[in-house]
Amino acid sequence: MTNEELWQSALGEIELSISKANFITWFKNTSILSNKDGQIVINVPNGFAKEWLENKYNLHILRALRNFQEDIKSVSCVIATNKESVSREPSVDAIIAPPKTRLDFQKTTASGHESNLNPRYIFDNFVVGGSNELAKAACFAVSQNLGRIYNPLFIYGGVGLGKTHLIQSIGNEILKNNPDFKVKYITSERFTSELIDSIKNQKIHEFKEYYQKIDLLIIDDIQFISGKEKTQEEFFHIFNHLYQLNKQIVLSSDRAPKAIQILEERLRSRFEGGMIADVSKPDFETRMAILRKKVADETIPISNEAIEFIATNVKNNIRELEGALNRVLVSAQLTKQTVTPEYVSQILSELISSGKKKGITHKHIIKVVSEFYDIDPSDLVAKNRKQEVVKPRQIAMYLMRTELQYSYPGIGSKMGGRDHTTAIHAFEKISEITKKDEKILEEINFLKDQLYTII
Ligand code: ADP
Ligand code: MG
Repeated sequence: MTNEELWQSALGEIELSISKANFITWFKNTSILSNKDGQIVINVPNGFAKEWLENKYNLHILRALRNFQEDIKSVSCVIATNKESVSREPSVDAIIAPPKTRLDFQKTTASGHESNLNPRYIFDNFVVGGSNELAKAACFAVSQNLGRIYNPLFIYGGVGLGKTHLIQSIGNEILKNNPDFKVKYITSERFTSELIDSIKNQKIHEFKEYYQKIDLLIIDDIQFISGKEKTQEEFFHIFNHLYQLNKQIVLSSDRAPKAIQILEERLRSRFEGGMIADVSKPDFETRMAILRKKVADETIPISNEAIEFIATNVKNNIRELEGALNRVLVSAQLTKQTVTPEYVSQILSELISSGKKKGITHKHIIKVVSEFYDIDPSDLVAKNRKQEVVKPRQIAMYLMRTELQYSYPGIGSKMGGRDHTTAIHAFEKISEITKKDEKILEEINFLKDQLYTII
């Protein structure tokens, strides 16, 4: 069997086990690059496809391949650089791929130091409007006067309004001009978990030393250190050390320093001692400008009226705005329809309308969730506390609430006769997690996609 035959046979199997839309989206333009010692390398068109194939479809792929070649041990993906190796058709993936491919992260600076920055977040592609003017100006000013004007710089505002984009832009701007600078971007949760690890492994000294050598420290979502005493204490020391050396500190949060509960007073006053700027919801003009910027690079024609329709209907945050646009573009590509306002309205109403109307039931949710996490559906509803099913189970309950609007007692009974308080807890827990964990949010959005593409 040639590689081509092997892959075509495996694709045949995979196609049967996932929805048509997902199959097309993720497996189009893929091929086997090499097959050596049981290790298969697959060519994929972009980083987004690589991430999904390696993380979410890995088992599907392995199982399918093993049907035809038993000794296959592992599957990995590489992004095809040679245009000949992928089909010349316009790729769906290029459009669906929200440019935030984690795998593209700039790993190291010239000095070998890891910055964690996503190179996509730059000032050049940040659209400025009344809602973010001040924050953008402050960030830009900091990037031109590191450690000298606003220190710390504190940016706050609701989710999906561009905080991460802005604060990372400072880092990318600095590295563009000074590749040897030590820039570090980290979320406060990550910071906390690194700190805890270092204490556990008796490496707290190294931890501090590492952070005290940084020129620009960017901590995202600082609100999560609320209530964590040890983290706050260590952060305070690192903060003071950097501050005294005129090193720059940039922080973001979903609320103003005043509103972060259980924040040590000395930290709060430090935060308030610098510059504070907020980002708020974008107005209509800004939403239009953002959409226009994003469609400018697309090959699919989309009329001004259609863009206007999206901007009018998706108001809450910029991430949703991007999501709606991506959705419309992908559907247009798949169905080969022109993007008219009517078409957009149809896609968006599908996005908004509930699953109930479409005849989706709790059984679909259980099926989709258990397949996705590769667990037995009966384990999902069973009354056991196996660690690996806890999260999927909570997600299933969450989806029954958000997509089917089931009552909590109803959810409890569909999930093997659980108490309604368990359902409430699951819903609240997952709602909370989705606010801070993009990865989970992506998983949930993906599950919703699967749910709505059940045919
Ligand atoms: P937050 O950190 O506030 O939750 P993000 O910075 O992650 O929000 O922004 C969400 C998405 O919206 C990102 O993909 C980001 O690039 C995009 N975005 C936000 N604000 C703008 C803007 N003003 N111009 C262009 N893209 C934006
Ligand atoms: Mg963010």
